[in-house]
Amino acid sequence: MKTIIEPFRIKSVEPIYFTTQEEREKALEKAQYNVFLLHSDDVIIDLLTDSGTSAMSSAQWAGIMQGDESYAGSPSFYRFEKVVKDIMGYPVVIPTHQGRGAEKILFSILSKDKKVYIANTLFDTTRANIEFSGARGIDVLCPEGKLPQIPAPFKGNMDIKALEETILFQGPENIALVILTITNNSGGGQPVSMENIKAVSGICKKNNIRFFLDACRFAENAWFIKTREKGYENTSVKKIVQEMFSYADGCLMSAKKDAFANIGGFLALNDEKLATQCRNLLVITEGFPTYGGLAGRDLEAIAIGLEEILDENYLMYRIRSISYLTEKLYAKGVPVMRPAGGHAVYLDAKAFLPHIPPDKYPGVSLICELYKKGGIRAVEIGSLMFGKYDENHQLIPSQMELVRLAIPRRVYTQSHIDYVAEVIIEVFEEREKARGYTILEEAPLLRHFTARMQPI
Ligand SMILES: *Cc1c(COP(=O)(O)O)cnc(C)c1O
Repeated sequence: MKTIIEPFRIKSVEPIYFTTQEEREKALEKAQYNVFLLHSDDVIIDLLTDSGTSAMSSAQWAGIMQGDESYAGSPSFYRFEKVVKDIMGYPVVIPTHQGRGAEKILFSILSKDKKVYIANTLFDTTRANIEFSGARGIDVLCPEGKLPQIPAPFKGNMDIKALEETILFQGPENIALVILTITNNSGGGQPVSMENIKAVSGICKKNNIRFFLDACRFAENAWFIKTREKGYENTSVKKIVQEMFSYADGCLMSAKKDAFANIGGFLALNDEKLATQCRNLLVITEGFPTYGGLAGRDLEAIAIGLEEILDENYLMYRIRSISYLTEKLYAKGVPVMRPAGGHAVYLDAKAFLPHIPPDKYPGVSLICELYKKGGIRAVEIGSLMFGKYDENHQLIPSQMELVRLAIPRRVYTQSHIDYVAEVIIEVFEEREKARGYTILEEAPLLRHFTARMQPI
């Protein structure tokens, strides 16, 4: 097989600013060892997130010029609505400024009388919005999903037995929503199989519980189904996507992921009565229902991006570029989550830095080393992001200590990725030098964004 090449040419470029290790050490100290507080021009390769960082296509930029900025009834909205209806299949489409705007609106309404949410793994903002609405989130991920280094095809699946037991234990009448995150961002970007989506849907129907997809990376998930699940080899990605959505009552979407847009999100659903409640809240917090916190030009960019993401040549390149980096690291003995996920490479910080215990934040330590050594910015998905305290203020660690290197869509080339591999391998070879960290200051929710830290 020949090299899988980037399925695009570069029309417009942005400079990368180079820094020395000494400059980066100063910048990191100034940011109090939280890479979210760095200035991004002090970063060489920015793998903090794949959210809103995609390179838009020439067609999307042309769409931006055609955006109609009418306050109400803009043709840009109707174009956007038509594409979402075609792909997701739900009759109601409500735009929001980002995915979390959709979360806030939906959970504010559903949590009024039901207080439990069940998911494979809730994403950080999703969990925070659930908790902020006065409810609780319970993750029931399949057992293989919790073992970073054991390969399995669908490590994002929900544990069906645990779902049934949790419903029975909590009482179906108390469950606001069951959510499948596709792909499972906080659990390694791992996919969920069609069989699992179908099984979860069946259980929800039987118990009269609402079931939504957190669909940020729906196309990447569909590509995994096409290439890994029996019976889908010859089905088009679009057909797979439509089948996935057909089993759920609605979806939450961040257009900053699988819509190649720099901003935006939406809520799409079947239930008209629930939709009316959502729209009433939307007008207060986001905007009028035909723009929902977005400009007309953003709606155009999203509509075009949603169609581009279904290109199978793009998806093959996308998924291959993630496994390329994963395999390079694995070959050198670096503890990396396997198989590769859809949008990011996840390092297993627990195994990478076994001398640093969870309450000294091994993920944070690894991230600081990657930045100092090569100017690479990654994000911790471990006890800084998900840790909680018990009554004695002792840390209850997260299940896994992961470091996520999210690859922006259509932005970096193979030589950028080769450089990333070289830096990680160098850090791995000197891993015993890395130290743990303590937290000096933190916020009560989503503390990883703003926490200030110091090395021990
Ligand atoms: C990004 C993301 C969200 C939130 O979307 P924003 O647009 O960042 O507000 C929710 N769920 C998952 C799985 C995500 O990846």
